[in-house]
Amino acid sequence: MTEKSYFNNEYLLQIKDNYNRIAENIGKALNNAGRRDKVRLMAVTKTVPYEIVNYSAELGIDLLGENRVQEFLGKYEYYDRKCQIHFIGALQSNKVKYIVDKVSMIHSVDSIKLANEINKHCKSSGRKMDILIEVNIGNEASKSGVDPDKLSELAEYCTSLSDVTLRGFMAIPPIDINGGSCKYFERMERIYSDYKSKLGGQIDTLSMGMSADYENAVAYGSNIVRIGSALFGKRS
Ligand SMILES: *Cc1c(COP(=O)(O)O)cnc(C)c1O
Repeated sequence: MTEKSYFNNEYLLQIKDNYNRIAENIGKALNNAGRRDKVRLMAVTKTVPYEIVNYSAELGIDLLGENRVQEFLGKYEYYDRKCQIHFIGALQSNKVKYIVDKVSMIHSVDSIKLANEINKHCKSSGRKMDILIEVNIGNEASKSGVDPDKLSELAEYCTSLSDVTLRGFMAIPPIDINGGSCKYFERMERIYSDYKSKLGGQIDTLSMGMSADYENAVAYGSNIVRIGSALFGKRS
């Protein structure tokens, strides 16, 4: 069989090992950074069947990250209800209506248009939404996120909205095998702390770090790491 057999015990044991190792690495990174606060481990579920996602919930994961609206809608009703769900992928304005009642935070707000659309749908459905602004911290043409020089305008706009609350920032820095993403993590940490002083307690979330670089992200203050392949294995 070339396909992964999803209830194969070996695969589940692998996920369990992965989970334990990642949790331990996060603990060490917190210690090394002298941090006393916590980091949430988010399981990024793209391409992963809901049975496997729910197995990760049994291990202790309580936060899921969704990238693709269509795929999410197909799996949503089967997910373990104890998990919170955050939307982390590129989000088109016309898809907002499908997710506002299903997620508790959106990490990928990168335009006034999108912020406004989320606010509008929250207002009409009588709920509030926590949001993060995604910052294109490496100024990469290929990546989503707001450019750092447009950030203050967008942040100001978001804080003026009635039904969304800006809680912080998300970033996907350029990958550099020589540890070079640290300078981007450091910039994000500075932005985060600037906004904490400017806006106070509402700013409490810094979402950065993925499978390849989460330990470095924790060293620079991340408190949500978004992990896919290091937990579930390589996506095919
Ligand atoms: C896929 C994805 C991740 C996880 O990536 P891995 O390298 O597999 O850990 C994290 N954040 C976002 C926004 C993603 O799209």
